[in-house]
Amino acid sequence: MSWETEVEVIVAGGGSAGLAAALASARGGARTLLLERQTKLGGMGTCALVHTFCGLFHPDVTQPWAWLNPGIATEVGQEMMIRTGQEAPDLMGKVYVLRQHPSLYAQMADELCRAESMLAVLSGTEWTGLKQTASGWELEVITRGAARTLSSKALVDTTGDATGARLMNPQWCEQTEGARLYRPAYISAFHGIAGVHDDAWRLQTGGMIFRAIRDGVLPQAAMGAAFRDSPFAGETFLTVDLEAGQGDWDPFDPVKRARMEQEGREVALSLWKFLRAQHPDFQHCAPPLLPTKAGIRETARYVGDYVLTGDDLAGNRRFEDEIALAGWPMEKRENARGPKFRYFDEAKPAGIPARCLQRREVPGLFFAGRCVSADHEALASVRVMGTCMATGQAAGKLAVDFVQGR
Ligand SMILES: Cc1cc2nc3c(=O)[nH]c(=O)nc-3n(C[C@H](O)[C@H](O)[C@H](O)COP(=O)(O)OP(=O)(O)OC[C@H]3O[C@@H](n4cnc5c(N)ncnc54)[C@H](O)[C@@H]3O)c2cc1C
Repeated sequence: MSWETEVEVIVAGGGSAGLAAALASARGGARTLLLERQTKLGGMGTCALVHTFCGLFHPDVTQPWAWLNPGIATEVGQEMMIRTGQEAPDLMGKVYVLRQHPSLYAQMADELCRAESMLAVLSGTEWTGLKQTASGWELEVITRGAARTLSSKALVDTTGDATGARLMNPQWCEQTEGARLYRPAYISAFHGIAGVHDDAWRLQTGGMIFRAIRDGVLPQAAMGAAFRDSPFAGETFLTVDLEAGQGDWDPFDPVKRARMEQEGREVALSLWKFLRAQHPDFQHCAPPLLPTKAGIRETARYVGDYVLTGDDLAGNRRFEDEIALAGWPMEKRENARGPKFRYFDEAKPAGIPARCLQRREVPGLFFAGRCVSADHEALASVRVMGTCMATGQAAGKLAVDFVQGR
């Protein structure tokens, strides 16, 4: 396939949602292009080192674990289990989660895309402009300083930032005010840590960090530090939630983004230095591996034909036109002091309607993942990677139906 002239569907943004959308579109028979500005696919799950897949499983933890959404989410989850040697997900309180490895996710995404003859991937390519034409869409993209125009009949926005709406008509999207936006976080990977990292270890390590902050040895931002083991021995991920200027936080402001990234690096490396000196399990720990970028939990999302609400999810609402199921509780992180959960009323999934992936007045434009049409509270559930894969797959299928005139 010539990726420059014969494209039917462009999927912009190669994170969990975009990967699933592109695979679904290509497998559905549409000539598909997947655009990604980074040099690897997987989005937050690779570049920000987010290391657990949430939303893959049925929410009833009194029952044995079961996959929630058939298709690409299950396919990726099953393959991750094989590659990481896990036979079952972890039960964490009231939820099942699957530990995933960012490097293996990037490799798997490459392999899945390479297997599709109808799919071309353009990486290192940023989408910067959008025009609607008589036959579909024209996208301005830039690869290493060179601009070009790409055309397609259908477009799936999986950038996580509602980029299409922000480029064409900001009224198609919504952004929560800075003070309530879910906080960004900085994840780094620590290698060579000894010991067993159970709840008692976490409590003791947390106590050491708390005292060091109180004594002015560690920065205040280290308060949000949390450790979670990778599926591979000796590797642990450190996540630090950041206030990022609290009410002043704007994820689209490059100066604030740079400050937040600097703060993340500073706190990760000061924790490493402190723990290496003070904690026996960290004595042989090399400097942490830093992410390509900090994790951004919330920016802008589309306003589609239906806006999914927190009450819909809590009430386990189902829809006639539902295309995916949500099962992860609403994990609200409006500050760096840890999440507030709102669980569904019953331990059953809720539906996500097709109307959350499109706007009637803009035929041929679809959105999924973090871009999905949901209110701030519902986003706290549907933004997890398992659910993003499910909405991404559905958006890819809708795009195929659109170009094939169904
Ligand atoms: C700190 C943190 C912890 C989290 N913890 C978990 C967890 O434990 N489990 C879980 O399942 N989820 C977790 N999440 C949520 C989850 O990682 C994201 O919500 C999810 O990855 C969103 O998927 P997505 O495909 O919509 O967007 P993303 O993963 O953000 O992917 C969007 C992609 O689009 C690309 N892109 C954006 N703009 C452009 C452009 N203009 N041109 C070209 N490419 C572009 C980006 O580079 C990116 O690759 C966490 C998130 C954060 C930030």
